[in-house]
Amino acid sequence: MDLAFTTQEQAFRAQCASWFGQNLPGPLASMDTPEGFEQHRAWEKRLHDAGWSAVNWPRAFGGREATLIEWLIFEEEYYRAGAPRRLNQNGLFLLAPTLLEFGTEEQKQRFLPPIASCDEIWCQGWSEPNAGSDLASLTSRATRDGSEWILNGQKTWASRGVYADWMFGLFRSDASSERHRGLSYILVPLDAPGVTVRPIAQIDSEPGFAEVFLDDVRVPVANTLGPEGDGWKIAMSTAGFERGVVLRSPGRFMATADRLLELFKERGSPAALQDDVARAWMSADAYRLATFWAVSKLMDGGTIGAEASLNKLWWSEMDLYMHETALRLLGDDATLDGPWLDGFVFSLAGPIYAGTNEIQRNIVAERVLGLPR
Ligand SMILES: Cc1cc2nc3c(=O)[nH]c(=O)nc-3n(C[C@H](O)[C@H](O)[C@H](O)COP(=O)(O)OP(=O)(O)OC[C@H]3O[C@@H](n4cnc5c(N)ncnc54)[C@H](O)[C@@H]3O)c2cc1C
Repeated sequence: MDLAFTTQEQAFRAQCASWFGQNLPGPLASMDTPEGFEQHRAWEKRLHDAGWSAVNWPRAFGGREATLIEWLIFEEEYYRAGAPRRLNQNGLFLLAPTLLEFGTEEQKQRFLPPIASCDEIWCQGWSEPNAGSDLASLTSRATRDGSEWILNGQKTWASRGVYADWMFGLFRSDASSERHRGLSYILVPLDAPGVTVRPIAQIDSEPGFAEVFLDDVRVPVANTLGPEGDGWKIAMSTAGFERGVVLRSPGRFMATADRLLELFKERGSPAALQDDVARAWMSADAYRLATFWAVSKLMDGGTIGAEASLNKLWWSEMDLYMHETALRLLGDDATLDGPWLDGFVFSLAGPIYAGTNEIQRNIVAERVLGLPR
C-alpha cells in the first residue's frame, strides 16, 4: 500500500489551504440564531462561488469532480483552517449522496444545485415521538390521490428544521404494510399548506431542532425518491452516509486533536493528563488512517455496509473523550472557555444522533460479527 499523496493531491491541498488562508471569515454567530443563520448562508455562498461547496460532486450540479481522497484532503484543510460549521449538512452530506445514487435525472437537476449553493436548506424528517431507535414503527402516512401524496403525521428532532426550506422524510405509503415494508422516501417543501414547524430549544436554549406537523399536506408523487414502498432501503443508504465517512470526516476530529495538543502545552503539559491527550490524538490519527483505507476501498469499487456502524461508534466516542480531556485540562476555567464548552455539549449528542450507540452495537453484533439476536 502506498501511503503517500500524489503530486496532484498535494497541489489540491495547497490550493485549498491558500484559498482558506485568504477567505476565512471572522467568528460567526451560532447558526441556530437568525443572525448566525444568515452569516453562515453568506459563507456558504462564498464557498459555492469559488467552487468549494461540494468538491466531489459532478460539475453539472455545482461540484468540481474531486476524487474522494481529494474530498478528505479538502475536509482536513477546512477544519484545520477553523472554517465555520456547514449550514446545509443534511442536504450536502445526507440527501445529496442518496439523490446521486437513487434520484431520477430530473430530481438531480432540480434539487442538487440549490443544495450546493445553499439556496435551499434541508432537514431530515425520520424520528417521530414514538419512533426513534425503532424507526420502522413510524406512523406518519402518505396516502395516494392521483398524482399527489397526502401526508399526515408528526416528525420530531429535525435538526435545522426551524430554518429549513425542505424536509426528506419517511412515510408509510401502504396502509396495510408493517415495519420496514411499505414505506416511501418523500421530499416535502416546508412552505406547503398544512405544514407547521415548531422550534425545540436545545440544551443551550437555541432552537437547533424542530418538530414538524403534517396535516393533509399535498406533494407531487414525483417527489418520491426511489421506488414507492422501497423507502427503507433508500433510508438505510442515507444512514450509511450519516454513520460512515461522509457526515463526520476525520478532518474535523484531527483539528480537535491538534487543538487539544495545543491546550495541553498551554496548560503546562500536566503529567497526569499526558497519556489521555496522547490517547486522544492517536485515536484521531488512527480514525484518519482507517478512513483513508475505507475510501481507497470505495474508489476501487468496494462498498461499506454495516461497518459504517463501527465508524459511528468510533467518531462519537472519540469526540466525547477529546472534549472531556480538554475540560479536565481546563479545570475550573472550563466554564469560561466557550469553544471547548460548546464543543463538549455538542459531543454529548454524538452517541445519540445518527442512531444511538446501543443500536450501532446491536448492528455490529448481528451484521458484522454474525452473533445471534
Ligand atoms: C443532536 C441530535 C440531532 C438529531 N437530528 C435529527 C434529525 O435531524 N432528524 C431526525 O429524524 N432525528 C434526529 N435526531 C433524533 C435521533 O435520531 C434519535 O434521538 C435517536 O434515533 C434515538 O431515538 P429516541 O430519542 O426516540 O430514543 P429511544 O429510541 O427512545 O431510545 C432511548 C434509549 O433506549 C436505548 N434503546 C432503544 N432501543 C434499544 C435496543 N433495541 N437495544 C438497546 N438499547 C436500546 C437507546 O439506545 C437510548 O439510550 C437527532 C438527535 C440528536 C440528539
